[in-house]
Amino acid sequence: MKYLVNIGLETHVQLKTRTKMFCGCLLSTESEPNTNVCPVCLGLPGALPRANKEAVKFTVMSGLMLGCKIARHAEFARKNYFYPDMSKNYQISQSDRPLCLGGSVEIHEGGVPAGAPKRVRLNHIHLEEDAAKINHYARHSGVDYNRCGTPLMEIVGEPDLASPDEAMEYLQKLREILVYAGVSDCNLEDGNMRSDVNVSLRPAGSDALGTKVEIKNMNTFKGIHAALEFEIARQTALLEAGGAVVQETRRWDGDLGETFSMRTKENAHDYRYFPEPDLLPVDLAEEQVEAWRALLPEAPEAKRARFQESLGLPAYDAGVLAAQKPLADFFEATLAAGAPAKLASNWIMGDLLRLLGAAALDVADLKTVTPASFASLLKLVDAKTINGPTAKELLEEIFEKGGDPATIVKERGLAQVADAGAIEALARQAIEANPKPVAEFRGGKAASLQFLVGQVMKLSKGKANPKLAADALRALLA
Ligand SMILES: [Zn+2]
Repeated sequence: MKYLVNIGLETHVQLKTRTKMFCGCLLSTESEPNTNVCPVCLGLPGALPRANKEAVKFTVMSGLMLGCKIARHAEFARKNYFYPDMSKNYQISQSDRPLCLGGSVEIHEGGVPAGAPKRVRLNHIHLEEDAAKINHYARHSGVDYNRCGTPLMEIVGEPDLASPDEAMEYLQKLREILVYAGVSDCNLEDGNMRSDVNVSLRPAGSDALGTKVEIKNMNTFKGIHAALEFEIARQTALLEAGGAVVQETRRWDGDLGETFSMRTKENAHDYRYFPEPDLLPVDLAEEQVEAWRALLPEAPEAKRARFQESLGLPAYDAGVLAAQKPLADFFEATLAAGAPAKLASNWIMGDLLRLLGAAALDVADLKTVTPASFASLLKLVDAKTINGPTAKELLEEIFEKGGDPATIVKERGLAQVADAGAIEALARQAIEANPKPVAEFRGGKAASLQFLVGQVMKLSKGKANPKLAADALRALLA
């Protein structure tokens, strides 16, 4: 029997608001434990929560980017359960009245670029608060309430994913879109993006979903991929042996590379959801939603298409440049400052990314090279005022300490020698000084010409146009 796989992800994304979800405490990962706390986020009796408007805005913006229907009327709900990192014994979340409904993420079948486009449906997006953090030490554990009340957006996907690779592409696309929208850093190491993963198997030909198993709280893409592969193999073996999958929650142990049963699955009604009596519903006016829509950036997919269609870039270039918004912004600002598109793309993907990588710097934090100075350099290259090696050195210099390439070239006389008369004179000198390579070239050894070009470059202190130098040498030696 062959089995088909259904994978669904529920992804928690930490929103980049300044303050917490229901109080004015600062969100900061740098503060001392239990310093960003107040009666509301500690859950003290009598404290009253108030919803953070920025968190609602970020959730609605995410919903708009993902093609969701935005609810005009949303409500908060209490989800009751006990956990030592949650002093209220309930979490404020949303239940049957979430902020965003439907929507989708576009991926490719099989999770590979060559696959046919595939739409992964979203069920809804809701807004809730995070719990505190328990830190375990050698002899004791401590609860840090600084994280308690952090706004979390939960993106609940339908089980439309058919393989671990599709799940990877889904998460990458989701992350790209949310980082683009500026609503979250989606930093995996900081736990900004965590997923609960559910997976079920069904016999080929059957439409009914199999019994699902959920793996909770996964925060690395690699871990999710490995856990899914393990779980698919475990369930396949179980079904092939005539057994049945139990609906349960399992835990992934990355060190052992296995999932372990944690508990059999609770149902939604176990949480005794009820409308949160301390918070007003969120009623959104049409104008408010439209005002937030106006803040949306161009989606990465649309940007890729535009870079290819209107700038004529190859798909590869468009993919690299559009993958991160700061890089795409830098590229577009460079074009706006007058640089040709393909030249800018080549120099960004080549030398600039290499220098950024070596300096462990993000393009968003780059202060020395600005789009204007980068464009100034590229215009000198485009006009053949400087040759390639000079341009490379100049880029390294301005990357190190800033400056305007056009000014530096003028001050130091770095403009390449493109004057035919001057190059011819240098070529004559090179020929006179190197009789052996000259004889070899005349005897049919083409490579000797490169040596002579190198001599001309040396005589010009690196400023000769190499192509003109080769032309001059060929003419003199003919
Ligand atoms: Zn607080």
